[in-house]
Amino acid sequence: MIPGSWQKARTPAEAIALRRGLGPSARYMAGGTALQLNWPEGCVDHPVVDIGDVSFGPDVSIGKNRLLLSAAARLEDLRCDPTVIAVAPAVSAAIGSIGAIGVRNLATLGGNLAWLAGDLVPLLLVLGAKSIGFERGSRGLADMLSDPGDDLLLAVEIPLPLPGRVCFEKVTARAAFAPSLITIAASFSQEGPLLAIGGGPVAPALVDLTAEEHWSNHTDAGVLAQLISTRIDAPDDDFSSGRYRARAASNLLAAFLCEEGTS
Ligand SMILES: Cc1cc2nc3c(=O)[nH]c(=O)nc-3n(C[C@H](O)[C@H](O)[C@H](O)COP(=O)(O)OP(=O)(O)OC[C@H]3O[C@@H](n4cnc5c(N)ncnc54)[C@H](O)[C@@H]3O)c2cc1C
Repeated sequence: MIPGSWQKARTPAEAIALRRGLGPSARYMAGGTALQLNWPEGCVDHPVVDIGDVSFGPDVSIGKNRLLLSAAARLEDLRCDPTVIAVAPAVSAAIGSIGAIGVRNLATLGGNLAWLAGDLVPLLLVLGAKSIGFERGSRGLADMLSDPGDDLLLAVEIPLPLPGRVCFEKVTARAAFAPSLITIAASFSQEGPLLAIGGGPVAPALVDLTAEEHWSNHTDAGVLAQLISTRIDAPDDDFSSGRYRARAASNLLAAFLCEEGTS
């Protein structure tokens, strides 16, 4: 590692300034659990701004209409937090599918989102969450994902109450401690359903069915799955074909929609 290319920030402003000073390949490091996956032979091959000492405020705060989760909150702390369990049980449950406890004790919420491959992203998309950046302030998660820039993510805001029904499924090769092949989420509220995909190599996104005429009239899971699959773009990798990923996600999302129609 080149001397000086590992810097420790104490404030958000300093973190951003240090990252810009270190050049476009520089990255923030929170827990480092996602970042280190790409380090060849464990050697850091890019400049790092360590944000572990930056103060992000309380892990969890609750207002009348929103739950605010700090980007620096460790996933295991959020999973066990009584407020999160009480008002956003779907978030606590989904975190339980991520890595193992040792990983979750280091991993942060901000890292899960900013990594862009995190399993929580589809869930947060269907919950209508917003990201709060130090420079760019509050914006929809989809906007942040399409243009993350080099802003420092400070928090995630989840509107309350949560939609009446929330579904989350991580499709993996094993039941536990396995990387996602594809992760899906759905929420059902009076405004209608929201569906999302992400996880692993799949770009996180809402699945928009509005272009499919009369899609909501379909009650046949096979027909719905067919419609949904045309909206899913999933790549191949060493673990799975994109075709398998799209098929698994479409079938699950169609099943969630059909269950909602009959419940
Ligand atoms: C064995 C193992 C198993 C894992 N299993 C899973 C899994 O099942 N599901 C899953 O989703 N993930 C998994 N991960 C990946 C990782 O643990 C999580 O995604 C975690 O939440 C990342 O958080 P972090 O703090 O470690 O991020 P870091 O590694 O520190 O950072 C990840 C990225 O986010 C950026 N970043 C971090 N914080 C901020 C911020 N505040 N503002 C802007 N950018 C920021 C960094 O620059 C970097 O690009 C696994 C990792 C390991 C090693």
